Amino acid sequence: MAVLVISAFAIWMCGTLVAGCESESTAASGVGDPYFGKSGNGGYDVLEYRLALTIDPTSGSLAGECGIDAQATQTLESLHLDYAGPDIASVEVDNAPADFKHRGGELIIFPATPHSEGQIFEVLVSYSGVPKPLETCYGPHGWLREGDTIYTLGEPQGALAWYPVNDHPSDKATYRFELTVPDPYVAVASGMLVETRSDEVDRTYVWEMDRPLASYVAAVSVGRYELEETQVRDGLTIRNYFPPDLDAEARSVFASTEEILRFYEATFGPYPFDAYGVVVPNATCYVGMENQTLSLFGREAVRLMVENDDGRDIMVPHELAHQWFGNSVTLSSWQDIWLNEGFATYASWLWLEHKYGEEALLAEIQENRDWLNGQDQVLCGDPGADHLFSSTVYYRGALTLHALRLKLGDDVFFDILRQWNERYKLSNACTEDFIALAEEMGGVELSPFFNEWLCEDGELPELQ
Ligand SMILES: [Zn+2]
Repeated sequence: MAVLVISAFAIWMCGTLVAGCESESTAASGVGDPYFGKSGNGGYDVLEYRLALTIDPTSGSLAGECGIDAQATQTLESLHLDYAGPDIASVEVDNAPADFKHRGGELIIFPATPHSEGQIFEVLVSYSGVPKPLETCYGPHGWLREGDTIYTLGEPQGALAWYPVNDHPSDKATYRFELTVPDPYVAVASGMLVETRSDEVDRTYVWEMDRPLASYVAAVSVGRYELEETQVRDGLTIRNYFPPDLDAEARSVFASTEEILRFYEATFGPYPFDAYGVVVPNATCYVGMENQTLSLFGREAVRLMVENDDGRDIMVPHELAHQWFGNSVTLSSWQDIWLNEGFATYASWLWLEHKYGEEALLAEIQENRDWLNGQDQVLCGDPGADHLFSSTVYYRGALTLHALRLKLGDDVFFDILRQWNERYKLSNACTEDFIALAEEMGGVELSPFFNEWLCEDGELPELQ
């Protein structure tokens, strides 16, 4: 079996040469992501972020601290964080003032005493101001405000707009968000609400995410929200945050969430977190984003789903499926984006099959296959930094999984999906890992198969 794994690795690399799943750690800026060379930082592993922020939703300003517990993976005389947010007042390392430089999207910190390999240290950054949106080829990202509503959009690189962070999905960490907002605003975030407290004018919401969270799915939103809550079972709650004027028809778009969640648990394995839900910011954006435990849906996306049943049967399950495919099992580098989008797309097709029967699945496959064959396609397994969210990644990725299902049979295929979620739960994985798992469980060499689907463009291979 090891031979098969090695052969898959050697043959399957599409165009970009990277050092397998693991990026070499260096103290320099960047973890070696083939698409975003400056993303993340080497030399340490973040264990936890503690964000204590006072937020004014009418101006979009924030003020407070970001505490970071990290462990050095080598001797560190200085360390980099990704940061393109507002002005920094001070930096401390282990309770001692530290020199720092802030240039571009990099914060470079010089601890008074170097850290030795294995040492755990704490960084505390105090900062305040109005974070500026980051203009990217995917639109504005980061800390976004519309009227008196704030929400965050982090994929692939937006978190650094509002807090200092090792902004790469390979360094996941736990989080605590302590968010103070004026009444009657509500502050929501990834994780579980563990405490609220009030003074005369403000209310503080404390959210804890005690499972590893990748920065690109770290959610914060502030707005006038109403909470709707459903207990699925012991230890699993669905809680949705809607703007008060979102009518019942619009809210009903999410009515199937519990049923989809139960279907996915039966298909992929246990839901990896203690809660799920959506937040609909009072913002006109067309966006669906799988923030961990709290997917984000813009009002325009909700409006389109109200008008289009197909939309709600695709988008709602798609973002929910990402909690398994992307948030629990997180891509190791951005080149692996089909592990997120191809899988979530196929998961939404599985929901169609479950709800409407095999014909619905086959119709979806035919429609997307025909459509893709008329398009210029990027490489699904190596789409490039500017095409992470190309339709090829979504649909060719999903069709790759369907082709694998046809090749190995339903029993083996669904065992692979469950084992994928079990083996790499709350961790990171790359395409080579998936190929190795499929070969291990399928008992056949699959590198030519994946090569044809993921590393070639043009006409799609036949489904057989
Ligand atoms: Zn997606």
